Amino acid sequence: MLTRSKKLFQKAQKIIPGGVNSPVRAFKAVGGNPLFIRRGKGSRIEDVDGNTYVDYVCSWGPLILGHAHPAVVKAIQHAAKNGSSFGAPTEMELEMAQLIISAFPSIDMVRLVNSGTEACMSAIRMARAFTNRSKIVKFSGCYHGHADGLLVAAGSGAATLTIPASSGIPESCLGETIVLPFNDLQACTKLFSERGEEIAAVIVEPIPGNMGVVYPQDGFLKGLRRITRNYGSLLIFDEVISGFRVAWGGAQTLFNIAPDITCLGKIIGGGLPIGAYGGRREIMEQVAPLGGMYQAGTLSGNPVAVAAGIATLKTLKGSHGYGRLDRMGKLLCEGIRSAADRSTIPVRVEQCGSLFTIFFCETPPSCYEEVKNCDFEAFKRFFNGMLKEGVYLPPSPFETAFISLAHTKNDITMTIEAAGRVFAKMRN
Ligand SMILES: *Cc1c(COP(=O)(O)O)cnc(C)c1O
Repeated sequence: MLTRSKKLFQKAQKIIPGGVNSPVRAFKAVGGNPLFIRRGKGSRIEDVDGNTYVDYVCSWGPLILGHAHPAVVKAIQHAAKNGSSFGAPTEMELEMAQLIISAFPSIDMVRLVNSGTEACMSAIRMARAFTNRSKIVKFSGCYHGHADGLLVAAGSGAATLTIPASSGIPESCLGETIVLPFNDLQACTKLFSERGEEIAAVIVEPIPGNMGVVYPQDGFLKGLRRITRNYGSLLIFDEVISGFRVAWGGAQTLFNIAPDITCLGKIIGGGLPIGAYGGRREIMEQVAPLGGMYQAGTLSGNPVAVAAGIATLKTLKGSHGYGRLDRMGKLLCEGIRSAADRSTIPVRVEQCGSLFTIFFCETPPSCYEEVKNCDFEAFKRFFNGMLKEGVYLPPSPFETAFISLAHTKNDITMTIEAAGRVFAKMRN
């Protein structure tokens, strides 16, 4: 008998491309049928067939408090009652800007947009406006949203050097984008020594999540800071995932590096659509109507999204939750590692606070080229095994999983036990 999820997916495929409104949701990498979700509460989600799962996707990062947190629901209801959009400034936008600026010492001014994609696209435009240069450098496996010039070697969908990760992108767009391997400071030094004066900005996920969690090697980010400064290029940290996730002030606080521009999204919208880009005052003064770089949005600073974001950030701050998130992350990942060891299946679990990825390989990958050598068939079997056990992991080997403050010790124990059973089955 067909499940309701299967029936809905069949219908959806006729009227929505691939049946989904964002590609990874289609479960293509794990060869299944996506679950249609009916509701979520705390760490759990329930599909339309009534099955419940411990959720480690958490809407791909925004839900650091878990699903339907009472403070966030209340803020959304209150804001919606007062009108959902005005296209005029509201006092709440100030509060949001203030929260972001106080968390990120490198940000003097901030502009709200509607998605992480818009934040990165605008950050690039601003860097070009400020430096009067056109070239940008990105790293393979880092994802910065789906703007044309950034959709090169962009994580899961991507191929090789300067080949777009998508059709429909003219070569002329990509001529301005230079792709380097992550963690390869030498390649970056060489590039800058040859054409540093043409480069407007280097954009990087300081802790990549879009090829799975990959650690920046000692000195890599500091090196990028030094090189860009020497050549008058800007350093853009895309902290759409890591902002307010790995620490209150993001990865830049953890590593004590001040980028020129920071991109934010995900958590700052508390589950509603939002993005932001901010940086040094002199750079942000490029943005219209103050400066000549145009960037706008009918729904930017949307009151409902901003209310959800403020409620999330305030609750997060009040919870002093980063210690807890890290402890839960360590507990879970240690448990999964031991379970994998017992099964002798080669597994590397990479974890940074509440972010983690289970790689099926011998050594922790340091760049996208190494991530691509992992055993994706093993991942697929693991994913589907875990799903049967009631654990919902990201349905792609190129993604980070997310733990929220709603996850309990019980959830973690249950997940470790499930992993043990799945690894044991995989060995047979
Ligand atoms: C999710 C993400 C984006 C894009 O954000 P959207 O809101 O999906 O447009 C950009 N950069 C990084 C690092 C992301 O993880």
